[in-house]
Amino acid sequence: MTSNESILAKLPAGASAITIDAAGALVVPDQPAVGFIEGDGIGPDIWAATRLVLDAAVSKAFSGARRLHWLELLAGEKAHQATGEYLPQATIEGIRDLKVALKGPLTTPVGGGFRSLNVTLRQVLDLYACIRPVRYIPGVPSPVKRPQDVDMVIFRENTEDVYAGIEWPAGSPEAREVVQFLNDKLGTHLDPEAAIGIKPMSRTKTRRLVRMALEYALAQGRPSVTLVHKGNIMKFTEGAFKDWGYELAAEYGGKFAPEGDEAAQDQIVIKDRIADNMFQQALLRPADYSVLAMPNLNGDYLSDALAAQVGGLGMAPGANIGDDAALFEATHGSAPKYAGQDKVNPGSLILSGVMLLEHLGWAEAAQLIPTALSKAIQAGQVTYDLARQIEGAEEVACSAFARQVVEHM
Ligand code: NAD
Repeated sequence: MTSNESILAKLPAGASAITIDAAGALVVPDQPAVGFIEGDGIGPDIWAATRLVLDAAVSKAFSGARRLHWLELLAGEKAHQATGEYLPQATIEGIRDLKVALKGPLTTPVGGGFRSLNVTLRQVLDLYACIRPVRYIPGVPSPVKRPQDVDMVIFRENTEDVYAGIEWPAGSPEAREVVQFLNDKLGTHLDPEAAIGIKPMSRTKTRRLVRMALEYALAQGRPSVTLVHKGNIMKFTEGAFKDWGYELAAEYGGKFAPEGDEAAQDQIVIKDRIADNMFQQALLRPADYSVLAMPNLNGDYLSDALAAQVGGLGMAPGANIGDDAALFEATHGSAPKYAGQDKVNPGSLILSGVMLLEHLGWAEAAQLIPTALSKAIQAGQVTYDLARQIEGAEEVACSAFARQVVEHM
């Protein structure tokens, strides 16, 4: 038996596997087995808080007719102690088999040439879309005047772009060889000692990312999809991203109408913005934007900038999704200095869990949580990070905050 078979063979009583049908849609039983990676550092604290809140929401929404069976998958320090590996193959196959998992933050092992475990997971599972909903939770301190105008969902391409890590140091044999090839064969005049990075962008990988954004907009009844790019300068990569995006939207039989189309009625608007302008727009006219699709590097910058606009990374949820699996995760790291102190804000992982419930199609449970979270914050008993920003607030532990959220459901 391979480890791939073993997790499905070990499902607890009552649990069934989530499957994907021939059309690529998720088929979710009433009692699905869902994976979890506890995570390093503060991971165990925020995972315990998150589980409490998610299970309570499911129980309240479905009165016992549905429940989640959480199956632990080992990664990070815990995996290293148990198996000698930071990212066991069984965990990768477990996520692929279960289709859906929630992940706490993982510390990047120092030394030994380790890459980030998070990046490795994204690459080996081909989780090609990084999805970040950015919405204001009333009560959270924000640096802008009208954070409530922000309600955007970012779809960031996860596998291509200068971000794919194809680069060589200045003066290395590889960089020199590439420079020589470009100068000799393609007429460039690069400094022979230049460092080189490659920015690949393909039609196939752009289309699958944009398709996910378009499908999301259709399913959720969103008013617009914006392609964010730097195609005015990088015409054949970023510019092509935009063109391929419009091309795909046009294949939807009139469901998407270009911005300014006078004849458009009840269609979702498809538009594009140059990335630098988009940063201004996000601050000046956030209400004009809903779903955003963008290449890897733009997406990295804009995701964090928008998260800051509604109160920072401590409350920002995220997911990395591919055709075979979806991994929902806190956007912050493992904050080792607070490990085991039951102190930090579990909001990011809880809201990532909300995305997981939405992904399962369990909207009734998902929608209970942001409101309860907001009420708990407005009641003024919050974790240290919020307590120091909200006048008159009382600091409570991570676990106590989670219990407050459940009480407000
Ligand atoms: P970090 O996000 O762990 O911490 C940055 C700051 O934010 C710290 O001051 C921390 O105390 C605070 N913070 C983080 N989460 C918080 C929460 N939930 N509530 C309140 N405060 C919170 O970033 P870092 O220190 O750069 O990284 C620590 C480790 O985490 C590194 O090994 C890094 O590689 C890893 N990391 C993992 C992920 C991931 O798993 N997706 C993401 C980023 C960093």
